[in-house]
Order: sequence, then C-alpha cells, then structure tokens
Amino acid sequence: MRVLVVGAGPAGSLTALLLARCGHEVVLVDRSTFPRDKACGDVVGPLALSVLERVGVPLPGDAHRIGSMWLGFDGDEMLMPARPGLGHRGYGLTIRRKDFDDILYRQAISEGAESRVGVVGAVQRRGNRLRVHLDGVDEGFDVVVGADGANSAVARAMGMVDPDRVLFGFALRRHVSGSTRTDRVDLLLEGREMVTPGYGWVFDQGSDQLNLGIGVGVGAQRARAKGARELLDRYEQDLVDRNIITTVGTHQEMGGWLKMGLVGTRVAAEGVYLVGDAAGLVNPLQGEGIAAALTSASLCAAVIDRWGANGDAAYRRAIDQHFREFLTTGYTIQRVALGHPKATRVAMRSLVRLGRRSERLASGWGIFWNDLTAYSGRQPGARAAKLALGLGQGVTSLTPARPSWRD
Ligand SMILES: Cc1cc2nc3c(=O)[nH]c(=O)nc-3n(C[C@H](O)[C@H](O)[C@H](O)COP(=O)(O)OP(=O)(O)OC[C@H]3O[C@@H](n4cnc5c(N)ncnc54)[C@H](O)[C@@H]3O)c2cc1C
Repeated sequence: MRVLVVGAGPAGSLTALLLARCGHEVVLVDRSTFPRDKACGDVVGPLALSVLERVGVPLPGDAHRIGSMWLGFDGDEMLMPARPGLGHRGYGLTIRRKDFDDILYRQAISEGAESRVGVVGAVQRRGNRLRVHLDGVDEGFDVVVGADGANSAVARAMGMVDPDRVLFGFALRRHVSGSTRTDRVDLLLEGREMVTPGYGWVFDQGSDQLNLGIGVGVGAQRARAKGARELLDRYEQDLVDRNIITTVGTHQEMGGWLKMGLVGTRVAAEGVYLVGDAAGLVNPLQGEGIAAALTSASLCAAVIDRWGANGDAAYRRAIDQHFREFLTTGYTIQRVALGHPKATRVAMRSLVRLGRRSERLASGWGIFWNDLTAYSGRQPGARAAKLALGLGQGVTSLTPARPSWRD
C-alpha cells in the first residue's frame, strides 16, 4: 500500500514509522527541513513515554524529569503529587521539541519511510486513488494521513473540519536561561478578572534552562488570542517578583495553536485519516497533546495496516473509545468556564484552598486534569478523579451544545 503522511511532528513520524515497519511504502512529507523547532512546553508526559517505550523509540537517558507540580491561583497554591499508575511511571521528561521531534523523524526514516520536504495543498479522491497536490505536482496514493497540526491543510481540503465549531487555544512559550524553585502551572488573573480559560507554566529543563509560557482558550474566535504576549510578560514578571524564578539574558519566543476537545472535526473520511492536533486531540484543560498524538498514531497505523483505505469507521470507533470520555468533559468544562467566569473563579479558588489541606483532593485533580484517570490504578486521589470525570460526563450529557464526537 502507498501511504502519504503529511507532517512529521510526533503524530506523523510515529504513524510513518509503524507503517514502514509493517512493510508499507510510506512517504513522510513536511514543509520544514528537520531538525525544526515547534512551540511547546517541551513536556513529554507519562503516557507519551509509555507509548514510546512500547514501540521502541529510545529517548536521551539524561533528559530532565518532571513529576509533581504546583497549581497556583490567586495567591494560593497546592501541590499535585505525581505517582506511577497503570502502564506509566508517573513522570514526564522535558526535551526540547527540536530534539524530540528529530529523534522520532530520524527513526521513521531509518525504519524505511521516505522523507520529503514540501507543502501539501489539495487532496482529492478520484476513483480508488487519492490525488495529492505536493509542491506543484499531482501524485497518487492509496491512503493519506493528515498529521499536519492544528491548522491541517489535509482536513480543510477534504472538508473534515467545521471552522465555526472547532475549539481552539493559543499558547506562547519562552526559552529562558535561569532557574526556578518549582515546576508549576498557574491559573491566571488579569487584575481581579480570571482569564478563562487560561494558565501559565514554568518548567525546569535542567542545565539552568526554563520553559515558561501561557495558554488561553479562544473557542472558534481566534482573534481572542491577541494580547497573549502582554499576558506572558506580566506572568513572567509576577514569577520574578515572587522569587519563583530568576532569569538571565534574553529569551526565545514561539507561539502556536492548539486544537482541542475533538470538536468540529471528522477524524476519517474516504481513506484520509487525521492524527494528533489535526484531529483536535489536545487536552482542553491543560494543553497537553503529544501523548494523544502518539496514541492516535498507533491506532491509525493499526487501522491502516488492517483496513487500508476502508478503515474510516474502525478508526472513528478507536478514537472514540480512547478519547471521547475525557475530551468531551474537558470541552464542557471549557465552555462553562468561558460562560461563567465568576463562578469558575470561586470554584478554582475553593479547589486550590481545599487541595492545600487534602492531598487526596490535590492528587485527584492532578490525575483528572492530566487525563490519567483511566490509568491511575489504586492510589490516593484515584476515586476523586473518577468522581470528577463521572460528574463531568453527567453535565456533558445535559449540555444542549455537547460536542458531537461522531462528526
Ligand atoms: C506553546 C505550546 C505549548 C505546548 N506544550 C505542550 C507540552 O508541554 N506537552 C505536550 O504534550 N503538548 C504540548 N503542546 C501541544 C503539542 O505541541 C501538540 O499537541 C503536538 O505538537 C501535536 O503533534 P502533531 O504531530 O499532531 O503536530 P505538530 O507537532 O504540529 O506537527 C505538524 C507538522 O506538520 C507540518 N505541516 C503543517 N502543514 C503542512 C503542509 N501543508 N504540508 C507539509 N507539512 C505540513 C509542520 O511543519 C509540522 O512539522 C503545546 C502546544 C503549544 C502551542
């Protein structure tokens, strides 16, 4: 089978690697020459690590670990402990995306995928082939995988995305020389107003390097991302003023879109499959997307290997089974937060205050919002996380505009 994988981020490279391993003829195309940078908090989370371990992609042994972290809001903070769970070790690694994506990309090539640099435009089904416009030339493929990120050209070309319904976020990160007392995430306030939904982060990368950034949810109105840089300036200054970070010299800044919550996107149609951000699989609560990119890549490669171009239904089912429960809940929480900022502020302040006193509660929130509920096993907070997910599902089922994950 001749497969075109568009985009060589984690989703595309892993799909290409697994299909090449199964003996398919795979072309992996990206508009950038690798290694290339990508806006990210650079945290490869515990579930992402377990996928990579399972498929045999080694990562640098000296990468900095990230586990328990603080969640701050309005002057209060609670520690969210991280513990090993079912099939994961309970910590992530901070690896700069220029290096992380290159490791996966090189492994895909070394296992037989053909690499190309080029921009994919139109994709069309003509009979039993897909015709793809690739750098001015039309080529035929049996299957196309859209792994081309949040603004997927493949999804647009195939009419698989409804721009009015998609749940977008925008995030901006800085690489800064410096140090921090704590890895942390802060829910953001502007004056007395909560930025809903919005958060800032600072992650230690080891060797006196920090990744700090902010993310904001904007729904389908992308103009709402304006002002992100000023928000990040204020957040950075606040961290400095509170002696949480010390920084030296200038920073490197990069921003990017997040497509979240599996909303407004049809993940498979006519032999075209979407993986990772192109499919809208980013966690709507905290912006993590690498684990979902890798998981969807594994599911997609298995479906293509078995069903070729006829696996639309099988892939939609697989995505539904793995992601629907949490992503639809996260989507609902985002909508509620956007519509009721005052109530959200009260709820978050109460959560952080109570979480300071109850390790179980803090732990449960950490498990829930990192989408680890299904993998928590028996540990403090596991029940609280299940309760939060159950409640979220209940509210989702009552919401008239609930996401249609069967898009
Ligand atoms: C600021 C920020 C911070 C984040 N922090 C984290 C974090 O700490 N941890 C985490 O897990 N997730 C994080 N995320 C989310 C994470 O970056 C994404 O979920 C992840 O990159 C998705 O991988 P992907 O392979 O689907 O897409 P991408 O990594 O976006 O890769 C898409 C690739 O497609 C290529 N491409 C696009 N269009 C075309 C075209 N037409 N033709 C050819 N090639 C094309 C691009 O060049 C790119 O290489 C963050 C996102 C942002 C913006």
